[in-house]
Amino acid sequence: NKFEQLGLNESLLKAINDLGFENPSEVQEKAIPLLLEKDTDIVALAQTGTGKTAAFGFPLIQKINPENRNTQALILSPTRELCLQITNEIKLYSKYIKGINTVAVYGGASITEQAREIKRGAQIIVATPGRMQDMINRGLVNISKIDFCILDEADEMLNMGFYDDIVNILSTSPDDKSTWLFSATMPQEVARIAKEFMRKPLEITV
Ligand code: AMP
Repeated sequence: NKFEQLGLNESLLKAINDLGFENPSEVQEKAIPLLLEKDTDIVALAQTGTGKTAAFGFPLIQKINPENRNTQALILSPTRELCLQITNEIKLYSKYIKGINTVAVYGGASITEQAREIKRGAQIIVATPGRMQDMINRGLVNISKIDFCILDEADEMLNMGFYDDIVNILSTSPDDKSTWLFSATMPQEVARIAKEFMRKPLEITV
């Protein structure tokens, strides 16, 4: 099992074994060691179905401090369906690590209920940009201490008109966080986000 050579801890390896993943996919092989070893920003060109959720999810889970109740990571994704899917995967990956709470935040559902869940403690928030911006504006969420921001399907988010929300969210979060951007394509708007908000990102292509 080549997952053992990527630097992942026992809890993650056990969860991976339960999931029946036998070998890392290409994007996982490239991203996981890099994200575990280095405190770096990355831009990864990867389509859906390549295993990119685990490519950022495994190293993220390993880097979260379960004893700290602050929100430490924000994952932005274009749709409610993707938010729920990512949240579900992160929960499966982190099932042997006590104290990691992952909360999904998206439009078209009760903001009060989502705020209540966050209040109970959410080290990882998986959100659509519009609802996230709304919650920030209303003071229902605090991202002033995040260490990681992941932009998943960045091209899709920008296609859907989330440019301003993404820029606002990135601007109100700490400058010294790590940003991991995943996109299937690299249109100008995505390149602009990378240029303006990321620190010399390393590039991965699969
Ligand atoms: P994603 O590209 O993240 O949407 O993942 C696509 C699907 O592949 C999901 O259902 C994952 O659970 C699954 N998957 C991710 N990594 C692996 C792997 N290394 N081996 C087998 N299945 C995987």
